[in-house]
Amino acid sequence: MRCLYCREWAGWFTRTCVDCARLYAIYQTHRGQVGLGQFLDLLLATGLPRAKIEAFLAADPYGEGSIRDRIIADVSTELLAAMGVHAPQHAQEVKRLREKGDWRFLGERPKE
Ligand SMILES: [Zn+2]
Repeated sequence: MRCLYCREWAGWFTRTCVDCARLYAIYQTHRGQVGLGQFLDLLLATGLPRAKIEAFLAADPYGEGSIRDRIIADVSTELLAAMGVHAPQHAQEVKRLREKGDWRFLGERPKE
């Protein structure tokens, strides 16, 4: 079967290749704690090719928003929580805003 994330061959009985499983483990460990830039650094530190990491971040295997969208949603939720606002942000919403074209970093004030 092909990998759900990078679309490369993953194996007969697995839908996630070894590399993406590794990237996903890093995502699970740090989600909500670091922003997109830091995540990229952490993922690049694995030594995997950048193209592979980009494919992983852009993957949206369940149509719920890509890993990149999820990272943004997680970190936005944490930022709001730090300000005392309980408002879970969802990757689907990030995806919707991004696709609409008026996407801006959640939590950032609009430019006047
Ligand atoms: Zn993969």
